[in-house]
Amino acid sequence: MPGFERWSDTERKEVNDVLQTGILMRYGFDGLRNGIWKSKELEAAICQRFGCDYAQLTSSGTAALTTAMAALGIGYGDEIITPVFTFVASFEAIISVGAVPVLVDIDETLTLNPAAVRKAITPKTKAIMPVHMCGSMADMDALIAICEEHKLLLLEDACQSIGASYKGKSLGTIGDAGTFSFDFVKTMTCGEGGVVMTNQKDVYIKCDGYTDHGHDHKGNDRGAETHPFIGYNFRISELHAAVGLAQIKRVDEFLKLQQKNHSQLKTILASVAGVSFRHIPDPVGDSCSFLSWFLPTEEITIAVINEMKEQGILAGNFYWYQNNWHYIKKWEHLKTAATLQSLHPELKARIMEQANKNFQESDAIMSRCISTAISLQWTEDQIQEKGDKIKAAIQKVTAIKF
Ligand SMILES: *Cc1c(COP(=O)(O)O)cnc(C)c1O
Repeated sequence: MPGFERWSDTERKEVNDVLQTGILMRYGFDGLRNGIWKSKELEAAICQRFGCDYAQLTSSGTAALTTAMAALGIGYGDEIITPVFTFVASFEAIISVGAVPVLVDIDETLTLNPAAVRKAITPKTKAIMPVHMCGSMADMDALIAICEEHKLLLLEDACQSIGASYKGKSLGTIGDAGTFSFDFVKTMTCGEGGVVMTNQKDVYIKCDGYTDHGHDHKGNDRGAETHPFIGYNFRISELHAAVGLAQIKRVDEFLKLQQKNHSQLKTILASVAGVSFRHIPDPVGDSCSFLSWFLPTEEITIAVINEMKEQGILAGNFYWYQNNWHYIKKWEHLKTAATLQSLHPELKARIMEQANKNFQESDAIMSRCISTAISLQWTEDQIQEKGDKIKAAIQKVTAIKF
């Protein structure tokens, strides 16, 4: 999964370029920076590699989501439909702009269930935000059709699916806007960072200002620039962008390895009775950062997890159903709307109402799902050994259960 596993001289060289000049900020200081603009270069490389017209780097993926929402005009009272299986950042961003996260069920794609999305639409719905979890995609044709029919915005949280695609288009470039995270464990990393991608110039210009205190970036005197709207500081630094610039040059090397290792492990698990796999709407577009698989029941899944734990082979295998950060079941802080700042009482009530709904359809899927993170460091022999051990653990459990 993560690009940090392949740290190399390429990253060191790009960072060193910045250390040589000492200009760590992405804007200004034109005379001192010796022509080094790592953030600008990385934005151009993102547009080129992923196929979008505009890219705005940010200080994190969470900041990218918040920026995209602000630029799309999402705010007070708006409802955003988003899945119950995601990382907490998705709803953090929604709440930060004053909107209501309308949580809905997933299906065996492990992303938004289009039928559940349809049922959740109200006159206040402003956007649908699919989250392309664990390297693979939502059913985009179905979601695009719903957005067109109801005139809704489509914002892709593609933070976990760098390099994945749907029908030839990179995830994150299909909707009105899309985001990647470049935090330390993502497919390519900046250390910390993120990006908003869009094909709409006005959305990009808003992102550009919003991430830098509203600066309009016109002319070459920062102090004299004007501020058409209120922004924040969600800037990336040149040091972080330098790491990302090295990583994007290598991202296809990472993806190739990921796909190879994923395919070898999948072949082994496919030979185990009772194991099935996540439904992938466009299999050739899977980035393969995870292999997500199902067992027949919750009881068997928990027993297999326990068996793997006992054998010391659980590391790198995720049972999201019991994870504090990725699934609704353990989001008590959202269910009680436990924010530090006080919220508008109406927003607080709506957040709690949404988070306390019944998600038994998702429970029935997530309670049987295990995701294995695909390492870029595994050798073929290690994959064989890992696969064989997981297979033996499953067979041991199912032999007792049946
Ligand atoms: C990582 C991640 C984010 C946020 O990214 P940060 O860079 O860590 O802020 C958002 N959504 C999803 C689904 C993620 O996995």
